Amino acid sequence: MAKRDYYDVLGVSRTASADEIKKSYRRLAMKHHPDRNKDDSSAGGKFKEAKEAYEVLRDADKRATYDRFGHEGLSPGPGGAGGFSAEGFGDIFGDVFGDIFGGGRQRGSQVFRGADLGHELRLDLEEAVSGDSVTIDVPTRVSCETCNGSGAKKGTEPVKCSTCGGAGQVRMQQGFFSIQQTCPACRGAGTMIGDPCADCHGRGRVHKTKTLSVKVPAGVDDGDRIRLSGEGEAGRNGGPPGDLYVEIRVNPHKLFTRDGADLACEVPVSMATATLGGEVELPTLNGHVSLKVPAGTQSGKVFRLRGKGVSTVRDARQGDLFAKVSVETPVNLTAEQKDLLQQFEESVQAGGEKHSPRTGGWLDTVKRFFDRISQ
Ligand SMILES: [Zn+2]
Ligand SMILES: [Zn+2]
Repeated sequence: MAKRDYYDVLGVSRTASADEIKKSYRRLAMKHHPDRNKDDSSAGGKFKEAKEAYEVLRDADKRATYDRFGHEGLSPGPGGAGGFSAEGFGDIFGDVFGDIFGGGRQRGSQVFRGADLGHELRLDLEEAVSGDSVTIDVPTRVSCETCNGSGAKKGTEPVKCSTCGGAGQVRMQQGFFSIQQTCPACRGAGTMIGDPCADCHGRGRVHKTKTLSVKVPAGVDDGDRIRLSGEGEAGRNGGPPGDLYVEIRVNPHKLFTRDGADLACEVPVSMATATLGGEVELPTLNGHVSLKVPAGTQSGKVFRLRGKGVSTVRDARQGDLFAKVSVETPVNLTAEQKDLLQQFEESVQAGGEKHSPRTGGWLDTVKRFFDRISQ
């Protein structure tokens, strides 16, 4: 059967503008669409004919070829200017509506990456420093196994969304602006569920608590985050899953505070040891060490023990331990002890400021302070 002239098919003149051609095609596509002409078997043919004509005349190159050589110039095959394949009505349908909404070039549905998830993992300082393999339970959303994530009841398929023609997006004209929006009918999926899966109610995803093993690297610190790639929520419409971020929270320790690779602690030292000098046992994360306290050590003095801290995930260097001396005031003394202490105090007083290195300087400062405010 000889092909009709494309201009005749669309009912436009040979000098018609691109806009005229498009308008005419839209009118014909709506008129002859098979869905609207269920009783007319010739509608499908007319529809295809209009589409074929439009495909050529909308394209400036193909139109020029057609104008010079007619249908022959467009015959398919190697070197031909382009041909046509028998497309299903679904594609044609999508094309019509895509055109009406101005999004004719956008094909296929939108896929959505699954949401990232956060999970707090509480560790003791020892666990954080040494690293560990821990098991966590994370509430998440996974692809529904019953329907393989499609949301459609077993044995049925999602159908193409009629609002966006499967594009997942629609273009809205607002004044001068044309705004592309996610299709409100299918929320970007491009498909609609006719018969929803009973397990996920058509959502394609279900809530599930996943049990995961997390390798905590040695030296993690409060606020560090471990990323587990692909362990977040399942994606939608076949999109990739999100990631899971495990946020480390380190419980306060009874003895140590941590600052990066360094640890700090307080050491109570008796008055006599601080005065006469001696040794005290000092805890570290790897057992006890002995700390030499020199004679005359003042309360608040900080000793630095190199390499007795920890390492971090960023830095393998072992930090230091800072031990702050806290001279202990004796309590619950007997009468005899009080008496001895009294005698001792009188002896010290008699010696003046040389036994009290802080007091002298402190009294001077106090004096200068009052001198200044009384002026
Ligand atoms: Zn399901
Ligand atoms: Zn839609």
